Amino acid sequence: MENFLLKNIENPDSADIEEYLKIGGYKNIAKAFELEPKAIIEEVKKAGLRGRGGAGFPTAMKWSFAAADPKFPKYLLCNADEGEPGTFKDRPILEKNPHLLIEGMVISGYALGAEYGYIYLRGEYPHAKDVLNKAISQAYEKNYLGDNILGKSIKFHLAVHQGAGAYICGEETALIESLEGKRGQPRTRPPFPVNVGAWAMPTVVNNVETLCNIPYIISIGSEAYSQIGSKDCPGPKLYCVSGCVEKPGVYELPMGTSLKDIIFNHAGGIKGGKKLKAVIPGGISTPVLPESMIDCPMDFSSMPKHGSMLGSGAVIVMDESVCMVKVTYRALKFFEHESCGKCTPCREGTEWLRKSLGRIERGEGREGDIELLQEISENIMGKTFCPLGDGAAGVVLGMLKHFKGEFEEKIKAKGSRV
Ligand code: SF4
Repeated sequence: MENFLLKNIENPDSADIEEYLKIGGYKNIAKAFELEPKAIIEEVKKAGLRGRGGAGFPTAMKWSFAAADPKFPKYLLCNADEGEPGTFKDRPILEKNPHLLIEGMVISGYALGAEYGYIYLRGEYPHAKDVLNKAISQAYEKNYLGDNILGKSIKFHLAVHQGAGAYICGEETALIESLEGKRGQPRTRPPFPVNVGAWAMPTVVNNVETLCNIPYIISIGSEAYSQIGSKDCPGPKLYCVSGCVEKPGVYELPMGTSLKDIIFNHAGGIKGGKKLKAVIPGGISTPVLPESMIDCPMDFSSMPKHGSMLGSGAVIVMDESVCMVKVTYRALKFFEHESCGKCTPCREGTEWLRKSLGRIERGEGREGDIELLQEISENIMGKTFCPLGDGAAGVVLGMLKHFKGEFEEKIKAKGSRV
């Protein structure tokens, strides 16, 4: 499959508008403007595009709710708050292919009836901020943004809003709160952002990769797009691979490529010829899979059948030397730090999990600690306000399911293996 999302990124000037125009960039805006907004939503629906941020919600369905709402103005927000540990799939687009994102947002805004858009960028991506701001200025100069785009009475204005480094702002309602200048904490739902979002107006929040698929659908048509990858989750997918592999990086592959294929064929296999032990397939909040379970298609529908989730497609590979207690402890340190504190099971539970894991990790584990970890995790799961709590509990439960022996061994041995 030829790259579309990462096309031309080897070119050192790929972020410049002239280079983007040379490879046919921005042509899809004119093509899209020939269609009625409803027809674009229909195309996206037929293409079968599902959100690439982690939840896999059908994009056209989300759009249709906001488009049908008579309130005005409407907003299109790009979720570029890529903060999940192990996840760096959107970064090459933001830094090297920003015009593809802008093109996708102009077309999406037109389809939704949104005339204002924001790219909510994670605080730790300062270079991407500069690249995006320059690209937005260039797009305004060439009339791909602003009023009367390409001489038509269609307008779309776009700006970058940089976050302050909170992981929770990747959750769409916390993102909206933060954009409005408030503390980034998730909102109660319903109402959903598609009806009551930014400044209480209909708002669609889409991930960077999702929006970048829109020009592709317009370019090749929904029929051809739907033939790429898995039947019920078509299209290309960015998989980012890190950890103990020979060639870590971001790979654009058909959705549904097997986890085994991604690790051994594309990422070059396990570093130093060591044995594979386990994989976290979709970012730190997705349950771990042992080596014996990696022959599975990486898409939204297949991964739950194999005991995990696609998440953001961030594959974290661990070889035989990695201590799973240490991995779990580090993950919980992250979740405890990033818990926004709004609900008790997450705020208190992540701290308790981190403390208990830290004790085991330091060689001070006690009899009953494993049962305690299990109980706390079960009391978090499904009882929190947003998915962060479930993610934290899921990491512990997944590790205990597949690597309980290692926790027991460490408690007995009263010492760290690595
Ligand atoms: Fe905040 Fe955690 Fe509750 Fe989410 S689950 S609202 S991060 S305290």
